Amino acid sequence: MKTHTIALIAHDGRKAEMVGFVKDHYDILKEMNLIATGTTGSYIQQTGLEVTRKLSGPQGGDAQIAAMAAEGLLKGIIFFRDPLGKHAHEPDVQMLLRICDVHNVPLATNPATAKYLLLGIAKEEGIEV
Ligand code: PGA
Repeated sequence: MKTHTIALIAHDGRKAEMVGFVKDHYDILKEMNLIATGTTGSYIQQTGLEVTRKLSGPQGGDAQIAAMAAEGLLKGIIFFRDPLGKHAHEPDVQMLLRICDVHNVPLATNPATAKYLLLGIAKEEGIEV
């Protein structure tokens, strides 16, 4: 049984990067329970991975994932946010980052860090990579 859950979120300008990252790390990710915001989740599903989709980010998906982080349900979050664009749900984005810091939840906002986050979780959970 998969006992470790991670959340994946990508803003529109970084969804292609997220799909590439997911394909590159498919073998580790398939050993984990995956949660994603709505649209990111539908992109990830196209790679063949199972993912539970929350609401779309602007509809409250980031807030749902933040709540899971606060409840201690997530091993980590990969959040490829768009450092260049403006977002209507920026307060939710900031809230998610703050909640991760409050609860010491590993959070990666770019592929280089996300790779180490996954490798670290895999090592801790005894997942062969
Ligand atoms: P989305 O949400 O995956 O539904 O696009 C991500 C976000 O904008 O935070």
